[in-house]
Amino acid sequence: MGKVYLVGAGPGAADLLTVRAARLLGQADVLFHDALVDDEVLALAPQARHVAVGKRCGQLSTVQQFINRQLIDAARRYSCVVRLKGGDPMLFGRAQEEIAALADAGIEVEAVPGISAAFGASSALGLSLTRRGLSRSVVFLTPAVGSGERPHAWADAARGADTVVLYMASRQAEVIAQGLMATGMPPGRPAVLVENASLPGQRVLPTTLGQLPDTARELGGGPALIMVGDIYAGLLGQAAGGLDEESLRTAAA
Ligand code: SAH
Repeated sequence: MGKVYLVGAGPGAADLLTVRAARLLGQADVLFHDALVDDEVLALAPQARHVAVGKRCGQLSTVQQFINRQLIDAARRYSCVVRLKGGDPMLFGRAQEEIAALADAGIEVEAVPGISAAFGASSALGLSLTRRGLSRSVVFLTPAVGSGERPHAWADAARGADTVVLYMASRQAEVIAQGLMATGMPPGRPAVLVENASLPGQRVLPTTLGQLPDTARELGGGPALIMVGDIYAGLLGQAAGGLDEESLRTAAA
């Protein structure tokens, strides 16, 4: 019976994998990865059988139960099974469902942490998520719910936080802006959209809560975070259409 590793792939750049992740990729007999994983990352597992799974695979989302099934079958046939998950596996990655399914099947499973998108984006911005006197709390939240799940009061979680990072939210910018303003946040609260953090197509779009829906229309199809808080005030007043690296450095200084 093999072992399954739920490995954090980080925000995208291959050199943001942990050393442990890279070592496991080198040992993997079979590698389950999202469709969008960088070729440089896949190249770290040249001997493994590669299986693309995940929400962005083709037009249809691969059903979670099917992924669980594939992991179990693979662990019965191979000794080292790596399931690569974007960012950190323990944040918004349905890791618990995979862990539970594997445990039920009597298969050993181990998680390997990764750099979550919020950290990749913060480094790209050169802006700390926390700052003395300005931000002492950070909330990671998603408005996304699975099918059949009841909607949740996501905006309540944002109300008391100094800095809010929203995952899986950029396609609902209108709902997000309305929801946050309904908690009493002013339309002028600084915000920033970071798309493809750490990847070649990285884009940084500074905005305000009130302007967020308009700004979000400029996004391409890449994964993006919405980040909201006074710590992003320095990015405002920068050129529309996004910031390049030089202007980011100036704005963050
Ligand atoms: N476990 C992952 C999050 C999975 S949810 C993590 O820790 O990062 C998927 C969401 O993550 C996307 O909808 C997007 O909001 C965000 N995301 C992932 N990679 C990103 C990247 N390179 N740049 C910006 N946002 C990213």
